[in-house]
Amino acid sequence: MSDALPIIEPFRIKSIEPILVSTREERARHLAEAHGNLFKLHSADVMIDLLTDSGTGAMSAEQWAAVMRGDESYAGSPSFLRFESAVQEVYGFENVIPTHQGRAAEHLLFRTLVRPGHVVPNNTHFDTTRANVEAAGGVALDLPCKESEVTSSDFPFKGNMDVDALRRVLAEKAGSVPLVMMTITNNAGGGQPVSLDNLRAVHALCAAHSVPLFIDACRFAENAWLMRARDPALAGSSIPELVRAVFDLSEGCTMSAKKDGLANIGGFVAVRDPELAAELRRRLVVTEGFPTYGGMSGRDLDAVAQGLYEVLHEDYLEYRAASVRYVVQRLDASEIPVLRPAGGHAIFLDAARFLPHIPVRRYPGQALAMELYLEGGIRSCEIGSVMLAHHDETTGEEIPARHELVRLAIPRRTYTQSHMDYVIEIVRRVWKRRDAIAGVEITAAPPVLRHFQAEFGRVGR
Ligand SMILES: *Cc1c(COP(=O)(O)O)cnc(C)c1O
Repeated sequence: MSDALPIIEPFRIKSIEPILVSTREERARHLAEAHGNLFKLHSADVMIDLLTDSGTGAMSAEQWAAVMRGDESYAGSPSFLRFESAVQEVYGFENVIPTHQGRAAEHLLFRTLVRPGHVVPNNTHFDTTRANVEAAGGVALDLPCKESEVTSSDFPFKGNMDVDALRRVLAEKAGSVPLVMMTITNNAGGGQPVSLDNLRAVHALCAAHSVPLFIDACRFAENAWLMRARDPALAGSSIPELVRAVFDLSEGCTMSAKKDGLANIGGFVAVRDPELAAELRRRLVVTEGFPTYGGMSGRDLDAVAQGLYEVLHEDYLEYRAASVRYVVQRLDASEIPVLRPAGGHAIFLDAARFLPHIPVRRYPGQALAMELYLEGGIRSCEIGSVMLAHHDETTGEEIPARHELVRLAIPRRTYTQSHMDYVIEIVRRVWKRRDAIAGVEITAAPPVLRHFQAEFGRVGR
């Protein structure tokens, strides 16, 4: 192992964006002006922006060339035909409906399939997915596998669904489950992959109850890579083959092209059933646009069409997985509590174990995210009770999230290993002074998706 060659970034840099190096005093001022909410910072005041991997990746020279080919015709644009055939070829779905991003695809699908009182099981809903199920009057039910409970264990497929729990839900409520959804990789569950065996088991249950299985496909290529790396039975399969093996189990998918589409914007919903597609298109023209552009420009359609092929390249996926693993292994070696094993798109710090003196109702994840910014200008994202807590319907009491995580999402093809070394060192410095870090309280928040707008105040120890 020791004389294996390092895995390099499989690209050269052609165009650069400067990073403004700030002082701690400047960052303290910016954070106060943002009321402690990292979503409210100006991005120019961030040094390493790991808030999200969504839409923030670097496009390739071929994608920029595709942007120039973009055709902005209102109807029948060749850009749409290239987009449509890329989705058909990669995923195998006949009917392709472009949307401006993933949540618009979710909106169309759930508004069409979900009625008040319906239950939608998912391995773990992403925040916009949950919000769209609930907006359609449904109940968003998370059924993560039991192995995902312990953040320090090395179970390879912590993104899996709890198949026994799904069996019970389908037996008890079969008439009110309009679809089952699988999120690959499991973003809110730590970017952990879902195994092919788990997808097959979920598919078999769905088939037995005549309930369609849909896939939240945002990180389908990363899932395929990790699936193969962690399942010896798949060693001989190519990535495109594995992608098809996954989607062949489903009736359709929603996709944010801002993730594994390697694009800055875009998404789609793709389905097998032509009648469902017709219904989705009827809604599409009301809220998004004509069926050959949805919510996208022709140049974006072309950038995504190219991105969907590039994301399947083995060198790219190997480097992508290696850069996340590199950070996880080094933090782990410093005994810093980090979600294991390494996921596909992000490093997740376990804030509950990082800051055990801060109770959950004082949001240790938010407190830690604020410290990473103060220490080194790193912007991360709390994925804990600020983002995911819900309120008990009768008592109004806040029920905490399953985990208090801080996500360091790695934008695709954007940062180099020396940026990752910097991130590791900043986390270590915060870890060394962890005992002096205080919790926070929410001083103002809107009722839905509160993490985007909430304001925070420090609460002394
Ligand atoms: C990003 C994301 C979405 C929503 O996509 P947008 O393009 O941000 O609207 C849905 N599900 C998962 C798993 C995601 O990561």
